[in-house]
Amino acid sequence: MDIKSIMPNINKHVDKSRPYISPSENAHVGLNVPQIVLEYGSIKTKAKSLPNLYKYMLGSLKQMRKTYKELYKQPQNPIKEITTKDLEDMKELARKLGASDIGFAKVDPSYIFDDKLIIYPNAVVLVMEMNPNIINTAPSKGAEKEIFRTYYELCVQVNRIKDFLNDRGYNAAAGPSLGGEVNYPLLAQKAGMGVIGKHGMLISSIQGPSLRLAAVYTDIENLPIEDHNDHLWINDFCKTCNRCVKKCPGGAIYKETVTFEDGSKQCIDYKKCAVPFSRNNGCTVCIKECMFFRSEYNKIRTAFLSGLFRSYGQS
Ligand code: SF4
Ligand code: SF4
Repeated sequence: MDIKSIMPNINKHVDKSRPYISPSENAHVGLNVPQIVLEYGSIKTKAKSLPNLYKYMLGSLKQMRKTYKELYKQPQNPIKEITTKDLEDMKELARKLGASDIGFAKVDPSYIFDDKLIIYPNAVVLVMEMNPNIINTAPSKGAEKEIFRTYYELCVQVNRIKDFLNDRGYNAAAGPSLGGEVNYPLLAQKAGMGVIGKHGMLISSIQGPSLRLAAVYTDIENLPIEDHNDHLWINDFCKTCNRCVKKCPGGAIYKETVTFEDGSKQCIDYKKCAVPFSRNNGCTVCIKECMFFRSEYNKIRTAFLSGLFRSYGQS
């Protein structure tokens, strides 16, 4: 079954007679998680995991349909400059809805997946933490359920933030956490919220790699966009660590990460990852075993910068 044909897709809703932003020529192919599960999971596994996940899967699909149905439900005379009050109120709402971090970035067209489009150039990037106690049980049904819970909550959150911005007079379009249009780890890295680790996921100072991401796109012109990233030292740390490379049950994480011109990275052989991922409850070993999940960001930073980093990740 081709999951792409039944997943809600922004391209079916974009009006090409209006402005939109296409991916650049060097854009990458997006990873389709549900397709991987269907292609590589055994029938037994699928039958076992569906009752555990269907509530969040169906909920996410419903939210995604709302996202795309309301793509052009926008204010008549949109405001392009956000007030300090509206910005703070938006952050407050995001926190109330479960966001653990919020960032801002201009979307580089090379971050848009090669078969997708977006309609506004700037992004509010939203991070939601996955419960570390549950993720620590991975691979497990509980950890897989926690992943899908986070996907679902983020799908709700981006729709609520979109509605909030619209109500205050701004253009906004939600970008769902599942099947999104843009490479979110790259977008969050550009927003200075963390760095992409050797396992291909964002590592943040707040929740390490135990997080999921989504975005809301807008043409607000004065968002507090970051142009620096305090976490770039993680790139050097990962080169010396390799713990996730050693622990990955599929042997899927490259020891030598390939970095492209736009800053995007090829970290994983997805065909190798797909088997443990789809057959063993979404795997998630690379999050659980990451040094930034097992220890605190500041402890690792201090040890690394003082030359004691060899005590990490050598097991
Ligand atoms: S999900 Fe599992 S198989 Fe895939 S990269 Fe992570 S540890 Fe490896
Ligand atoms: S386990 Fe080590 S190498 Fe892998 S992403 Fe985490 S810090 Fe980087």
